[in-house]
Amino acid sequence: MIKSKTKEVHCCDKCGKDEDYISSCDNCGAEYCWDHRKDNLISYPHSMYCSGSGDGSYCKKCVEKLTAAKDPRLLAYIAILDLRTEAEEAGKAFKKRVDAAEARIARYAKSR
Ligand SMILES: [Zn+2]
Ligand SMILES: [Zn+2]
Repeated sequence: MIKSKTKEVHCCDKCGKDEDYISSCDNCGAEYCWDHRKDNLISYPHSMYCSGSGDGSYCKKCVEKLTAAKDPRLLAYIAILDLRTEAEEAGKAFKKRVDAAEARIARYAKSR
């Protein structure tokens, strides 16, 4: 039996390709395929130590617009992102001190 049916598919707003894995902007709903997602969407993790369900995703235009409008949801995501960056930088500074301390110990260990 042959049946013809109409099916709705999500397509990339940039190239028009329909793909199973399409990401969209949480604000305007613009959709992007895997290839165009990197250049057009910004992802915001929902937590300090993990990401996944609950993450935010905004196109660059909306980020600009919502930042100017001080959108509380986007600001909450940005707060997490800032904390992640801060933790990463603090971690790097700490690692430097650890390396320096270990280098000092290494000097004494050699002279034994
Ligand atoms: Zn595309
Ligand atoms: Zn958008």
